[in-house]
Amino acid sequence: MQVLITVQEMRAACRAIRRNGQSLGLVPTMGALHAGHIALVRAARSQCDVVAASIFVNPTQFGPNEDFAKYPRTFEQDCAMLRSESVALVFAPQPEEMYPTGASTIVEVEGVGDRLDGASRPGHFRGVATVVAKLFHIAAPDKAFFGQKDAAQVAVLRRMVRDLNFDLELIVCPTMREPDGLALSSRNRYLSAEQRTRALVLSSALNAISAAYRAGQKDVARLLEAGRHAIAAEPEVRIDYLAIVDWDTLMPFTEARAGALVAVAAHVGSTRLIDNTILE
Ligand code: AMP
Repeated sequence: MQVLITVQEMRAACRAIRRNGQSLGLVPTMGALHAGHIALVRAARSQCDVVAASIFVNPTQFGPNEDFAKYPRTFEQDCAMLRSESVALVFAPQPEEMYPTGASTIVEVEGVGDRLDGASRPGHFRGVATVVAKLFHIAAPDKAFFGQKDAAQVAVLRRMVRDLNFDLELIVCPTMREPDGLALSSRNRYLSAEQRTRALVLSSALNAISAAYRAGQKDVARLLEAGRHAIAAEPEVRIDYLAIVDWDTLMPFTEARAGALVAVAAHVGSTRLIDNTILE
């Protein structure tokens, strides 16, 4: 496994793979890897000849009062995991390599990028779209793999790929969960044992909404009420948003339908967690 820290090295390594006639799958991450990331790597390995992963805690997608400085960094462990998954290339640049002095070009996905997490975290999706566009240019993968866990991010990136004509396929992989339903997240490391138990109301709320929908309830206001009721079981969990939206536009529905995205974000102590499900 090659670990590359400059844009030039990564570009050259990816170019060599393409010249060799091999397909390339890219898995962008911020490190602190868990089984959700590894599921993306395995999907990439099953669909592409060669897998590259990036590990980059992207400063531009964090707000001024967010957790950039304390975001978990477990580089050696991450590399060991990726090596054992037969990843060929790891791109791990420093912030100055990705954003040299004077860098001033951004990718803004208007509309979609301002909804859900984009509304709660102004500028977040500008940072995400900008760094992912850069990674796509550097690696030029055939396919790029993302988790449904970050469903709003998927909507933003799908739109960016379409609007900017990126010549790649965006593959979305299902959310990996703990046996009790908690969605795997690098930020789960911040939770105390007690907070971790409280956090289960997020997946419970999504399940309550799915169950009510399957039982025939189509009214979004009532479905959201069922979800809020489930979260109210833990008064220390503060909802940021709970919404039923179109997964392409992230615009709210008033009547639920199959394929609608049910998305939740909530604070458990000082940790902000997100989760979602698709109505079937
Ligand atoms: P992150 O390192 O948190 O930026 O995540 C990198 C990629 O892993 C993103 O595409 C995430 O959506 C995906 N991911 C994070 N958590 C999970 C999970 N529990 N299941 C599946 N994919 C995930």
